[in-house]
Order: sequence, then structure tokens, then C-alpha cells
Amino acid sequence: MKGVIFEIRRFTVHDGPGIRTTVFMKGCPLSCWWCHNPEGQFPQPEPWTRTEKLDGKVFEKQMIIGQEWTASDLMTEILKDRVFFDESGGGVTFSGGEPLMQPAFLMEILSLCHKHGIHTAVDTSGFSPTEDLMKIAALTDLFLYDLKLLDDKLHVKYTGVSNRLILENLHLLLDLGKPVWLRHPVIPGINDTFGEKERLKELLKQFSGKISVINLLPYHSIAMNKYRKAGRTNYLESLKDLPASDLQPMADELEETGVKVIIGG
Ligand code: SF4
Repeated sequence: MKGVIFEIRRFTVHDGPGIRTTVFMKGCPLSCWWCHNPEGQFPQPEPWTRTEKLDGKVFEKQMIIGQEWTASDLMTEILKDRVFFDESGGGVTFSGGEPLMQPAFLMEILSLCHKHGIHTAVDTSGFSPTEDLMKIAALTDLFLYDLKLLDDKLHVKYTGVSNRLILENLHLLLDLGKPVWLRHPVIPGINDTFGEKERLKELLKQFSGKISVINLLPYHSIAMNKYRKAGRTNYLESLKDLPASDLQPMADELEETGVKVIIGG
């Protein structure tokens, strides 16, 4: 079994506890307007232009983004960072794209990580067949679970899919007692409205005690060049970065639900 991966990033500190290696798996069933990783959406390797710096000079490199890996080769790569995991309480995070789009490969690599005693986190949109998610949950120590919009019509408009399955899967994971860190990108004019904040507050109240933490992720336009170079439409072309400090009032309000709120992450 092979999986398609578009990046392996070492020494990450925002994708779960401790120092981690984050594996970005290719393919995503959503198409969020604010996606920072448009190169992770299409499931197969594809031509891509990447900006790189060498000796202070910036140049563009044509490449094929996405490579096939066997689980055992990937495990060998992950194990190179074991000393950092052990010393920091870290581990490996599978992100994307949507890692649950490659369920069999994900299960295989998660099983290997467990055999080696490495902490595992899966960063997911939650848009996955429940049967796959439950099998993966049995092998996952922590879920980083994205919650983008609670109004279903808005969710369809801005991500391309309904949030019903996402919310059902979240309920199931929490009922199973799985550790979940929620991640909520805050996109000005899209999900920072009074109605969306109230719906989020209600959900946090409902699951207070079951959700360890929610990260509020302020919108930033870092991926804009990726869209331009790929000739893809960026619907948020003119949207400015949201300063993290602007999220403090929202964080204070959400903390009243009893869930720990972290800005950024
Ligand atoms: S779920 Fe994540 S990877 Fe997929 S389109 Fe949305 S932001 Fe991008």
C-alpha cells in the first residue's frame, strides 16, 4: 500500500503536543476559500511552481508536487526524529489535505507508529465515512478537528460540502472519549458574525469537559501566491490578514463556556 504525500515538515510545534513531524497527505474533499494548502487538494501528484530562496536570491522551481511513499519507508523517515519526540513529549501528526482520504494507508502508518510507541495525531476536517474514522480513531492518540462554520448552508457555500457528517463524526469521537483539540479558522466577514459565534458557543457549552481546547486561527493571506502561480481563483484575494490580537474578545467570550481557548496554533 502506498500513500501520496506532498510535504514532510520536521520540528513543528503547533500540530499537537511537543516537537512533532507533520506529514501532509495529498487529497481533500473540501475546497475551503481560505485554504493555505491548495497544492494538497488534488489527490494525485501534479505539476506545481514553488518559490525557493538560495543565497538570498528568490527563484521559482517547477516540480511535481506529491510523492508516493510506502508506509515502511515513511516510518523509517519518521523514526529519524524519535529523539526529539521522546525528549519533548511529541510525536507525528498526519495532516493535509485530508489524511482520511487515504484511510488504508493512514491505518497502516498509524499501526506502525503505535508499534514503535510514537504518539499520533490526525488533523482532519472530519469529512470522512464514519466507518473509516472509527477504525482510525482506534489507532490515534489525538484529533486536531477543524470546525469551520456551523451554519450548514454557509458551510456548503464556503467549503463545497455540508457540515452534517462533520458534526456527527465529532459527536461520535467525543462520545468515545477521544482527546480532541478543535481548530477554528476565523475568516473576517465569513464566520466571525454574531450568529456563527453564538452557534460555536452553544457547541462548546454542549461539549464542555469533553473538548480539551479550541484554537482560534486568525486568517492570513500567506497562500495567495500559490493560487496565482497555479492559476486558481482566490475568492479572498482582497481580504487582509486578521491580527491575532483582534481575536481576544472572541476568545474571552468562548472561555466562558469552560473550554480553554488559544489564539493561534
Ligand atoms: S479542509 Fe483543509 S486542506 Fe481541505 S480545502 Fe479546507 S483548508 Fe484546505
